[in-house]
Parts: sequence; C-alpha cells; structure tokens
Amino acid sequence: MIEEIYDKFLRVTPKFCMGCGNEKVVDSLILAIDNLYGSMEGFVFLSGIGCAAWIPSPHFKADTIHTTHGRPITFATGIKLANPNLKVVVISGDGDLAGIGGNHLIHAARRNLEITVICVNNLVYGMTGGQFSPTTPRGAITKTTLKGNLEYPFDLARLVANAGASYAARWTTVHKTELQSSIEKALKKGQKGFAFIEVISPCPTQFTRRNLKAFQTIKNQLNFGEFIDVERDGFAEKFRKSI
Ligand code: SF4
Repeated sequence: MIEEIYDKFLRVTPKFCMGCGNEKVVDSLILAIDNLYGSMEGFVFLSGIGCAAWIPSPHFKADTIHTTHGRPITFATGIKLANPNLKVVVISGDGDLAGIGGNHLIHAARRNLEITVICVNNLVYGMTGGQFSPTTPRGAITKTTLKGNLEYPFDLARLVANAGASYAARWTTVHKTELQSSIEKALKKGQKGFAFIEVISPCPTQFTRRNLKAFQTIKNQLNFGEFIDVERDGFAEKFRKSI
C-alpha cells in the first residue's frame, strides 16, 4: 500500500540517516494528501536549508522550491499573493524556520497568510553538524553547548498560535494517526489562514546520542495537541481585493 503511494507521489524515496523521523513526516504528509486530494496537482512545496528541507525537494512529484536559508516563507508569501488558488506548503526545520527565518514565521502568522507550514523540530541544526538551535532544550548537550544549553527554548506551536495563526498544533513522529489527521486539517485550514504544525523529531545522529533521555524528558515537558483552531480572514485574499 505505502509503496503504491510512494510511487504515486515521489520521484525517488528520500534517504535520511537511520532512525530519522523525517521519513515518518514524508509518510504522514503524502498519506494526508492522497486521502484529501488524491494527487499533488495545484500544490507548491517550499523548503529552506537543512535536513527537513530535503523532504519535498527534489523528491515530490510536484512543483518544489528549495530556497535559501530561513527564507521559504518569504518565497511562499510571494507565490500565494501572485496565485491564491495554489495550495502552498512550507516544510523545513527548526533552525531554518524558527532561527534564521524566525521573523518571517511570526509575521506570516500575524498576517494570517493562507499557507500551511510544517516545522520538523529535530532540536538542533542537524545538517550543519549539531549546533544548538532556538528549540534545543535547556541543559541539552550539543556541539556548541558542551556543558549544557543555557538558553530557554521557544515553545514553537504556542508562539505561532499567539502570533495570530488560524491553526497551530504539535505532535511527535510517534503520534502517527494524530499527525496525519492534523496535517489533513492544516492543509485545509491553510487555504484560509496560517496553519502550522510542529513535529518533534529529535535528530538521532546529532542530538539523541548525546542526550539519551531527551525524548522522554521532552514528552514529559511539552504539551501535544492543537493550540489554536479559529477562523480569521486571510491576508492574501484581503491584499488582492485591496489592489
Ligand atoms: S542529521 Fe539528524 S535530522 Fe538530519 S537526516 Fe540525519 S538523523 Fe535526520
């Protein structure tokens, strides 16, 4: 069954390190799209730089844009304003979306831009060697916090919900059923406003091996589920009417 879906939606199967949760995000996303629409027709997928940015590009049989570091939401904004009929989906990591592109994330949420954003939060800058990111838990050991991270992390799903998004949720890659149905909801809500899903997916290569109990700690410390689900007027629609 999943092989047929792979064949339908993927040019090639994305390859990540053994145990990486990115593959689970691929599965949940393509199953959600198949369930809702049956094809990727009318979708544009954008990503920035980092491991999660390789989820859509160049693997999906769709229009994909691999943008510069931290900027997928800016490209997504231009695309949505130019053609509001497109289903615009950003998939990237925590370093890309919450660190380098953090301002774009909160302002797109504030504007309630009609896009869907999936942030795969692996808790570090994985692809560049494991430096701490804005979501690295306090006390965690990383390449650049050898004695433990001193900073408090962003609570991303709540940050985006409070910034003005229409929909914000947080799951882990272990929440298979919840994640797929939340992605389906976010794809639909992303047609009318800013829809955001944070997927906690600790990087086994750069994070978990240095922080063996981290996943359990995170599961105990973070809340999961939906943080906001409201109807608000979207930015692109208002913008086009105004011109
Ligand atoms: S470095 Fe980490 S996040 Fe990147 S592909 Fe490997 S396991 Fe996944």
